[in-house]
Amino acid sequence: MSSREPKKNFIREIIDEDIRRGKHGGRVHTRFPPEPNGFLHIGHAKSICLNFGLAADYGGLCNLRFDDTNPETEEIAYVESIKEDVCWLGFEWEDREYYASDYFEKLYEFAVDLIKKGKAYVCDLSAEEVSVQRGTLTEPGKDSPYRNRSVEENLDLFRRMKEGEFPDGSKTLRAKIDMSHPNLLMRDPVLYRIRRERHYRRGDAWCIYPTYDWAHGQSDSIEGITHSICTLEFEVHRPLYDWFLDALGIHHPQQIEFARLSLSNTVLSKRKLLELVREGYVSGWDDPRMPTISGLRRRGYTPEAIRNFCDIIGVAKANSIVDMALLEDCLREDLNKRAPRVMAVLRPLKVMVINYPEHKVEELEAINNPEDPGMGTRKVPFSRVLYIERDDFMEEPPKKFYRLAPGREIRLRYAYFITCREVIKDPATGEITELRCTYDPATRGGDAPDGRRVKATLHWVSAAHAIDAEVRLYDTLFTKRDAGEVEEGADWKANLNPKSLEILRGSKVEPSLADATPGSRFQFERLGYFCVDSRDSKPGKPVFNRTVTLHDPWAKLVRSGRHNQ
Ligand code: ATP
Ligand code: MG
Repeated sequence: MSSREPKKNFIREIIDEDIRRGKHGGRVHTRFPPEPNGFLHIGHAKSICLNFGLAADYGGLCNLRFDDTNPETEEIAYVESIKEDVCWLGFEWEDREYYASDYFEKLYEFAVDLIKKGKAYVCDLSAEEVSVQRGTLTEPGKDSPYRNRSVEENLDLFRRMKEGEFPDGSKTLRAKIDMSHPNLLMRDPVLYRIRRERHYRRGDAWCIYPTYDWAHGQSDSIEGITHSICTLEFEVHRPLYDWFLDALGIHHPQQIEFARLSLSNTVLSKRKLLELVREGYVSGWDDPRMPTISGLRRRGYTPEAIRNFCDIIGVAKANSIVDMALLEDCLREDLNKRAPRVMAVLRPLKVMVINYPEHKVEELEAINNPEDPGMGTRKVPFSRVLYIERDDFMEEPPKKFYRLAPGREIRLRYAYFITCREVIKDPATGEITELRCTYDPATRGGDAPDGRRVKATLHWVSAAHAIDAEVRLYDTLFTKRDAGEVEEGADWKANLNPKSLEILRGSKVEPSLADATPGSRFQFERLGYFCVDSRDSKPGKPVFNRTVTLHDPWAKLVRSGRHNQ
């Protein structure tokens, strides 16, 4: 999908070697297996780019598989959002949209086969008893008293489990492996539980549900997957993955683990993100502060920026936290090329140009994108009453403040030089309410014919022509860099940033933005990149999300690897 030369990594080395040896007939077939129990986040984007990217680079295929074997938390709305997000990121699964829940019959047959081979048994221990008898890392487990049931008895009981003869939790089907295996997952793991729970796709057809370990590898096998790529926490599950496939003697994909993405100052766990949504800490899964794909999209991120980020971070075998600054810098690089420049004043201060004729309006030419002359120019109206940014004026400027101050001359971008002559204040509060300035008609377009220089160029809008806008400024959702790594049980929400959202209701934007389409992105000159909110924006009453600020020298350092984590 891109012309880039793929970066070498250990997964590619494994695949190259498999192809060289003719394993799986040289095929490459991957899958992205989300569970539809939440919206996708930037960590999933890493997995999507990796799985679909490898398939594309090796001329193979990648399936979209919903790993939907847990009826309690799964919903069709999540399926829809996942499809939308994968599509938006730029990947296609064609007709290969699969559901593990469609394999329930097949998985049941596999289990019957395992029983017939004497490698699985029905166990009457409760969940608590199973967990106690499993033993510990230093102590072996105990064999279940039901471990030596005959094949016939197991077949009969397992069928009756499926037919709903036994109450929830009263029996499980377990693999017969080794209760003193050093890997606890190999100590007769549970394959099926009895759970009378309605499944969002299968309804009440089933009352026994397979565990992740039992469903995942067999689903990979059914689909003819060659390389089953997952995150590091599944490394300890690999012996079990292999054991099931070997015991069944069916197509055997190779599981390969890579480090999951962690991002600074946010959390990447569906469970935690769901909690933020449910408890109202954010406005929804697509809140622009969320690290979800839908949140990033609403914030103004482009799929190109996210894909480029995933390329740059690459894949590794060791977990680490990637700095948010890197993601933001990938976005700046993309938006710098494509976002039209416009003028907007976030916190307006009125400027009266006292020597400019009262009813005169001039249409001045402004460049849409200095990075891309092909994007052309537009006209911006100039008149006697203007707004500039409140921050761009100081009555008593300190040494390094070069912007507007009493008696000082500056340039208004694409317009004129103006000089501040008088500061008007509210007599009651002392607040500055207006600046009286003069302009030099000879400087039209922003250059002085006598070569005289000014130290600042400010953005502005014409008061009579400007559109009122709401602007939402965002900061990171969490104050703590490693907010996602908080210990289990600790209060991870204590690190939420109380200042992650600031709403400005009195902003003024240039008239060309009156009917900007929802989702479109702009650079507000000198301020950053902004995107028209796709939910709350109305024609003539736009709402803008600040996507990212303009420059962040720290991001450059992160990118060049010269920072110290
Ligand atoms: P979460 O930890 O957010 O609950 P999950 O692993 O339970 O995520 P799944 O829907 O099972 O979510 O994930 C689908 C795929 O995405 C899996 O292959 C998983 O390994 C991968 N994935 C999930 N989180 C990350 C991450 N942070 N970085 C890379 N890959 C991830
Ligand atoms: Mg999972």
